[in-house]
Amino acid sequence: MATIDLIETAPPVDTGIVEKDGPPAAQAGGTLTIDLGALAANWQTLRRRATPAECAAVVKANAYGLGIEPVVHALAREGCKTFFVADLSEARRVRAAAPDAAIYVLNGVMPGSGPEFSVIKAKPVISSTVELAEWDAYCAASGWRGGAALHVDTGMNRLGVSINEAAALAPRIRAENHGIHLLMSHFACAEETDNPLNERQIKLFREVRLLYRGIPSSLSNSSGIFLGDAAHCDVVRPGVALYGVNPTPGKPNPMRPVIDLKARVIQVRSVTRGETVGYSATWTARRATRVAVIAAGYADGFLRASGSTDETPGGSALVAGRLCPIAGRVSMDLSTIDVSDLPEGAVRRGDMVTLIGDDLPLDEVARGASTIGYEVLTSLGRRYHRVYRRD
Ligand SMILES: *Cc1c(COP(=O)(O)O)cnc(C)c1O
Repeated sequence: MATIDLIETAPPVDTGIVEKDGPPAAQAGGTLTIDLGALAANWQTLRRRATPAECAAVVKANAYGLGIEPVVHALAREGCKTFFVADLSEARRVRAAAPDAAIYVLNGVMPGSGPEFSVIKAKPVISSTVELAEWDAYCAASGWRGGAALHVDTGMNRLGVSINEAAALAPRIRAENHGIHLLMSHFACAEETDNPLNERQIKLFREVRLLYRGIPSSLSNSSGIFLGDAAHCDVVRPGVALYGVNPTPGKPNPMRPVIDLKARVIQVRSVTRGETVGYSATWTARRATRVAVIAAGYADGFLRASGSTDETPGGSALVAGRLCPIAGRVSMDLSTIDVSDLPEGAVRRGDMVTLIGDDLPLDEVARGASTIGYEVLTSLGRRYHRVYRRD
C-alpha cells in the first residue's frame, strides 16, 4: 500500500510546460512557444531600471498577441499590480486573471459604457473634456468612485486633453477630489533617443504635473524607460519590451526573447532554372532550385510584406540551422523558402523551420517585412499549436 501511495503522490515530471492552446502539435502548421520565464525576467529588468517608479504592464491586443490570461498570471505573480488595456473586453479578461489589480482602459469610456466600468472595477483613461463631463455625470448618478486617469497630450496629437485644458481643469480637479488616480501622457518617438520631441514632451509634462501635485503621473512606454530618470515619473507603462522587442533600436537588446515560432515543411520540391515560384510569378529560379513549402502564410500572421521578387529581397527562415530566403509571394496558408544552399536531404517533409527564435530575432523578422516587432507580434495567428513554458 505504501508503495502505491508513494507513486500516486510523486511530483509530475517537470517539462517546463505550464499550458497549451490551439490545435495539437501534430495537426498544426506550426508551433508557437511562449517563454513565461523570459517574460517575467523582462518585467523585472524594466522594474529595476525604473525604480523607484512603479512598473505596470501594457497587455492590450491580447497581450500583444501572446494571450492575456497566461501573460497577466505570470506578471501578477512577479508583483505587477497595474495593467493597461485598450478596451473593456480586454479589461474583463485581465480582471478574471488578476482580481486585485488596477486596470486602466486606454481608449477611455464610450457613451453609455460607464456601468461596465463599475462591474469590472476598471478605470477609464479620459482624453477629452467632453469625455470627462460624461464620466462625471455617470459617477454623480451612480455613486461610483472607482477612479480614472486623465490623459494630457504633450505632442503626440492623438488622444488627450490639451495643455491649456489640463491647466484650466487642474484647480477644479484638485478641489473636488475628482477621482483622477493617474495623470498620463504618451511619447511620440521614445525609441529615437536623439529626437528633440522627447525633451519637449518631458518638459511640458513636468509643468502639467506641478498643477496636479499629489496625483501620481505616468509618461514612459518601453523605450521611454531608457530615456533616463526624468522620463520615469511615478508609473512606467512598458508593453512591447516585455515581449522581447528591443526598446533601444541600434543598441544591443536588453530584453530576453520570449517567443519561438516554428512551421512545418509540407513538401520539398525542385524548380527548374528559369521557372517562377508562387502567385504573380514574381520570383524566378536563377539556377536549379530546391524549395521548401511551409505551412504558414499571411493568414497565420506570416506577413505578406516579407515576400520577395526578382528585384527585392524579403524575409528569411532558419532551415536546418541556416538562414534561407523566402522565394516569391507569401500565400494565405503557405510560404516558399529557397533551400538550395542546404546540402541535399538536409530538409525533409515534416521538418520544422524557425520563423522567429533565438537565432532569428523578432526585430529582424520585422525588418524583413518592412515593419516593426509590434505588428509581427499582434499578427501572430490562431492556427498554431501554442505552448506556454516556464524554464
Ligand atoms: C501601447 C501603449 C503603451 C506601451 O507602449 P510600448 O511601446 O509597447 O511599450 C504605453 N502607453 C500607451 C498610451 C500606449 O498606447
